[in-house]
Amino acid sequence: MPTPLRHVAVVGAGPSGIFAAAELVKRPDLHVDVFDRLPTPFGLVRYGVAPDHITIKRVAAALTRTLTHPRVRFVGNVTVGTDVTLDRLRGAYDRVLVATGAPHARELGIPGEDLPGVYSAADLVSWYNGHPLGGIGFTTDTDSVAVVGAGNVSLDVARVLLKGGAGLAETDVPDPVLAALDRRPVRDVHIIVRRSVADVKFSPPELAEFERIDDLDLVVDPEQLSLGPDALARYGSDRTVAARVDTFRSWAARPHTGAGRRLHVHFLRSPVEVLGTGSVEALLLQVTAVGPAGRVATSRSETLPVGAVVRSVGYRAAPLPGLPFDADQGLVPHAEGYVGDRTHVVGWVKRGPSGVIGTNKACAIDSVRVLLAALDADPARIDGAERTALLAELAEVEVTWPGWIAIDDAEQARGAASGRVRTKITDVAEMVAIARSSC
Ligand code: NAP
Repeated sequence: MPTPLRHVAVVGAGPSGIFAAAELVKRPDLHVDVFDRLPTPFGLVRYGVAPDHITIKRVAAALTRTLTHPRVRFVGNVTVGTDVTLDRLRGAYDRVLVATGAPHARELGIPGEDLPGVYSAADLVSWYNGHPLGGIGFTTDTDSVAVVGAGNVSLDVARVLLKGGAGLAETDVPDPVLAALDRRPVRDVHIIVRRSVADVKFSPPELAEFERIDDLDLVVDPEQLSLGPDALARYGSDRTVAARVDTFRSWAARPHTGAGRRLHVHFLRSPVEVLGTGSVEALLLQVTAVGPAGRVATSRSETLPVGAVVRSVGYRAAPLPGLPFDADQGLVPHAEGYVGDRTHVVGWVKRGPSGVIGTNKACAIDSVRVLLAALDADPARIDGAERTALLAELAEVEVTWPGWIAIDDAEQARGAASGRVRTKITDVAEMVAIARSSC
């Protein structure tokens, strides 16, 4: 007689949740239901990865293989916490694995941050990726923008703003976003780095992308590239640090061509206030210097005239009713991914917003190893009838895998009509209607 299946609910159909599902179904006695609040799968791959990073988005093919596995079910358009409580899931599944990511932006905590014209990178990324539930669009009438933060998200935002609608026409960026980006093209993006050139988190290949953008000058003040003793040591021992520093040294040495657009990178500058009456007019920066023992504040400040400020200083997870939450760190407290009450976490909600998409694979392997050990040690079995009853109740709202395929087909057909790879549908009700009419 075949072993009866045990069931795991994964909450979140982004890369972390799907990598975990792939690990789980390596065990022949497990079945996985992957819930997502959206009718669409892939999370960050669809709504976080920059639209011009087409190669990275190809990971969706591998994620599709997992979601179409015979022992995996995609349960789209179901919000855990609203349509079904976490407690109800715990009553219907042997284990629950939460993979809801880190959707909220961290704040700068400086005066003027609430002025119109200050955006979070989280909002802008959602907007230009056509996320149906969020994303305040870039509407400020300016051609000069400051982006605060020295991570890869800052580079994504800067590149999208500088390329503009015309430079992104081949991608799946929604048409209204392309039009908004071209209404008043951004000419100057200023990236603000509070520490030294040896401390940035930019990936060297992402930096190199700017060298391939037409009609763009790269502006770096060589005086801001000095290294203290500690940074010099890291320059000598860490190839990634050396690659970043060398890139900025080469940018500082480049002659300016009088191009129509400029990327300025400012080091050792901390934002202290957003200035403006009614809307952003400038960003006040405190100048820091490199001393023998590290970064030291100076009495100097600079006023950078810009019409908009984007804060790109990291993300926080969202609290989920029924799950503990560490508000200071912006994640769920856990021990090796175990939270308690047969509930586990994986991905950014577990370890905070760090690493590239592939990092979440290793994280999923770790969380699943602990989950399986706990499952095997737990003699209590959840009655499968509870799960059947729950899914029957959710049938009215659930968008299934065939429903997603209908949405995918519709987006590709709309895109083909205008010579594009796809045109994303950004309205949930429209997506659900398309999914339903296909079943
Ligand atoms: P991140 O890499 O953690 O960078 C955040 C930056 O914000 C840091 O440079 C940090 O500086 C700075 N910061 C924090 N508070 C600040 C403040 N008050 N004032 C000024 N600067 C401040 O975060 P992220 O860019 O949001 O990226 C999240 C993750 O996604 C990263 O692992 C990233 O590599 C990944 N990602 C990868 C790609 C890609 O591979 N193409 C694309 C996008 C994102 P300090 O270091 O001084 O704290």
